[in-house]
Amino acid sequence: MKKLALVVDMYGCPNRCKHCWIGHMSNKKMPQGSDEFLINYFSPFFDSIEYYSWVREPDYCSEYKSRWEKDIEISKNSRPSRFELASFYTLNHDDNYVKFLKEVGTKVVQLTFFGLKKMTDKYVGRIGAFNELINATNILLDNNISVRWQAFINKENKEDLIELLQLSKNMNLEERCQKNGNPFKFFIHSGSCDGENMKLYDLRIDKKEIPLKLIPYYLDYDHTYEEKEICEILKNDNSFLNFSKKDKIVINVANNFDIFFNYTHMKKEWKIANIKKEKASVVINKIINNDVYAINVAKKISISNLVKECGNYESSKIFFIDDYKMYLLNKYLQKISMNKSDIYKM
Ligand code: SF4
Repeated sequence: MKKLALVVDMYGCPNRCKHCWIGHMSNKKMPQGSDEFLINYFSPFFDSIEYYSWVREPDYCSEYKSRWEKDIEISKNSRPSRFELASFYTLNHDDNYVKFLKEVGTKVVQLTFFGLKKMTDKYVGRIGAFNELINATNILLDNNISVRWQAFINKENKEDLIELLQLSKNMNLEERCQKNGNPFKFFIHSGSCDGENMKLYDLRIDKKEIPLKLIPYYLDYDHTYEEKEICEILKNDNSFLNFSKKDKIVINVANNFDIFFNYTHMKKEWKIANIKKEKASVVINKIINNDVYAINVAKKISISNLVKECGNYESSKIFFIDDYKMYLLNKYLQKISMNKSDIYKM
């Protein structure tokens, strides 16, 4: 095999967002030397390995600078990327962090909201999160880094998001970002329906409930459907969910060394293996053959049957088709687990 990205939960995350697609996990600093262990474990099987010391909040550690240098140093025949992401927690707690972001060439940072103060604090799971996001916006702009505001919409916060949009105007974000040469962007969406967000299914917004003022800001709105429309589209689809490998395999590593593909939440039905307990040759075989409980289930049930088992023809909730297929599979896994408790003994 050729390319691997190892995405490792070495430090955890200060937040507990209610939409978190990965799912909530405990924060635990992984033991010293975990990075070398991981690289050595996979190195014989891959030509190149990009190493990331975070799968949740990036740079959520006091030694973020040396950590980034170590990620680069330890990667094999490859270099990890910086994304348009940063730790808004660290921006609020360490004055030097924004200088580091500039040093590594950050031009834009995406920040995530759920409305104004009450809603954002509630959905990030931390009192003060909203104020930190506003403060982070100002710190970034004062240092010539543009911002992008992403907001998750549901039945409970839809009116708040209109006010959030207005706040972005009151803060002159368009004008302030323009000065940096990277335009301000505000966008909303409902997120995929897995991880913690799956628990918010009842609050998922109906397509018709999206306030008119916000439709122009809904991500890829023209490719959204009501749930019942997707059920009609897929009810005769006799194909199966596709898990064929791309050029690069991405493996998420939990802080207890359980490993997962990055298709959906890091829950046990998606666990490939625990690499402290299983030999590398066995694990690599599982990776190549997609030998994962959830994928093995998906190989046996067509999309039309997933719709028959778990689709909701009464629902007008908004979805993208691919997210909905994954939601159907996760729903089906939940359904069969109720009958077969032994499948979780993995
Ligand atoms: S969505 Fe991101 S910031 Fe929020 S809890 Fe999940 S990993 Fe942390």
